Amino acid sequence: MDMSEKRILIVEDEPSIAEVVSLYMKRAGYQVQIAVDGRQAMTIFERQTPDLVILDLMLPEVDGLALTRWLRDCSDVPIIMVTARREEIDRITGLEMGADDYVVKPFSPQELVSRVRAVIRRLGREQSEAESDRSLSFDGLTIDPRTRVVTVKESEVELTAKEFDVLYLLARHPKQVFTRDQLLERVWGGAEYIDAGTVTVHMRRLREKIEAEPSKPQRLLTVWGVGYKFEP
Ligand code: CA
Repeated sequence: MDMSEKRILIVEDEPSIAEVVSLYMKRAGYQVQIAVDGRQAMTIFERQTPDLVILDLMLPEVDGLALTRWLRDCSDVPIIMVTARREEIDRITGLEMGADDYVVKPFSPQELVSRVRAVIRRLGREQSEAESDRSLSFDGLTIDPRTRVVTVKESEVELTAKEFDVLYLLARHPKQVFTRDQLLERVWGGAEYIDAGTVTVHMRRLREKIEAEPSKPQRLLTVWGVGYKFEP
């Protein structure tokens, strides 16, 4: 994940705090926008969805809790709430309402940067986990990693565990060339007793199962002298 592309919306009505937070976030490599009240935050949010919102609870116009509710209704953007001590009760309510984390005023900007990084990191991990589990579908071919079922023209084909793993790996990265060594590493865990010929054999069997004409493959292509790739 390229951190420099992450956009943070700071919702803070105290200019000095907004300025300091903004400075630290920029230094940490984030793009920053500032809203001085809830209404402005909504406008900015609708125009340019940020990747994370730092939200002061006590705001003029639309207060922080109402804004949190609004944000939660229209997105699952991570929210870090900023509260003052006397707002303890609101703070708890805020977390129940779906803020991802909070800091209490006065806070160290560096601490806030760490919290932001942690939330963004966690989110990236969750996304890549969801991503790694997604089923793929191409014209006449579907691959579902959860059930490990592959269908060709809507009828199910029987693949061995390794055949499935090879196909799924290649299909998840369309057009990307994998060498035999890379496939051995990723699918067989680089086991030493397996030789590169194993990959060739698996590829041939896969073609027999999923290609209309195994000798003229349209999906599982050989890149001569390099390895294999999947054509979507
Ligand atoms: Ca405030």
